[in-house]
Amino acid sequence: MKKDIHPPYHQKAKVTCACGAVFTIGATKPEFEVEICSECHPFYTGKEKIVDVAGRVEKFKARMEKVEGVKGTRAPSKRAKRVLKVEKRASKQSDKSVKQKNSK
Ligand SMILES: [Zn+2]
Repeated sequence: MKKDIHPPYHQKAKVTCACGAVFTIGATKPEFEVEICSECHPFYTGKEKIVDVAGRVEKFKARMEKVEGVKGTRAPSKRAKRVLKVEKRASKQSDKSVKQKNSK
């Protein structure tokens, strides 16, 4: 390593998580405070945990309910029509392939 250009390296930097977990890592800072770690992150725990900022989840849910209510009453959008078309075609093709398999 070149001299006088590297910050001091702490072999045992202490990391404290908001969930209470404490562990050590190697870092250039002696101490860390984090909001989420591998002990409490949903990816590792497998549990759903929503960090809600200013009721955005509620807003989203309300919007989804609104959309569910409107569904069916409104004419399908161009995109929805296209999706339907593709789905129809796909189902037809799968029917064909089934028939072909049966005829063989
Ligand atoms: Zn944590």
